[in-house]
Amino acid sequence: MTTAVAVRFAAVSKVYAGPVPVRALTDVTLEVPEGSFTVIEGPSGSGKSTLLALAGGLDRASAGSIEVLGMCLDGLAERRLRAYRRDHVGFVFQDFKLLDVLSAVDNVALAVALHGLPTREARARSRGLLEELGLNGRSEAHPPELSGGEKQRTAIARALGSGARVILADEPTANLDSHTGAMVMAALRNAICARGATAIVVSHDLRVAAGADHVVRLTDGRVVDWTEEVHA
Ligand code: ADP
Ligand code: MG
Repeated sequence: MTTAVAVRFAAVSKVYAGPVPVRALTDVTLEVPEGSFTVIEGPSGSGKSTLLALAGGLDRASAGSIEVLGMCLDGLAERRLRAYRRDHVGFVFQDFKLLDVLSAVDNVALAVALHGLPTREARARSRGLLEELGLNGRSEAHPPELSGGEKQRTAIARALGSGARVILADEPTANLDSHTGAMVMAALRNAICARGATAIVVSHDLRVAAGADHVVRLTDGRVVDWTEEVHA
């Protein structure tokens, strides 16, 4: 049986233009299987965030080809790239990027409502997502009242809220203590698994990598190793 590929990079390079052009990725080829939990690791400046930005359609490759869920992102018009981000990708950031003026449930509902659901249904669905992530009773709290772990679980609920099949998380545990980070990663993993969705997580946390299906190591913008972790 062949496993479907969720994200495919073929000889992808990225050069940031400027007075001194910066080569962030060089000839990156990789396949992320659908339904997998893949971790990207590597030193600071190795191109991890760039790789996520390209996969998420936030930026464009300078060379090579990127395909996500069977869609080719190369040369997509800006409007179609926006629709791709909205409909297929959920982002989770190190600094949460929640709106402080909205309650947790409304932060999630905002993403859910982008898909045309009426407000009442969007809020109901968002409450369900927050409960799934263990935030029962916290849905009316605003981000400043939430702990770091609660904020990140809210952000994960938001990323899942759009029904995205691909979740891209950039150092999601970097601002959390190690215990909270482990709980947040477990919540993300369970939510991904339950949906058969795909997660690509940039992380320095070796324990996150230990729980991954695949680990991609980047050094100086190149993939240096492709390890298939054996599940216990
Ligand atoms: P990482 O996430 O692994 O720390 P990045 O993908 O952020 O690495 O960066 C890879 C390289 O690209 C670094 O040398 C960084 O300085 C450079 N870089 C990242 N973003 C930009 C940008 N918008 N403009 C110019 N250079 C950038
Ligand atoms: Mg980064």
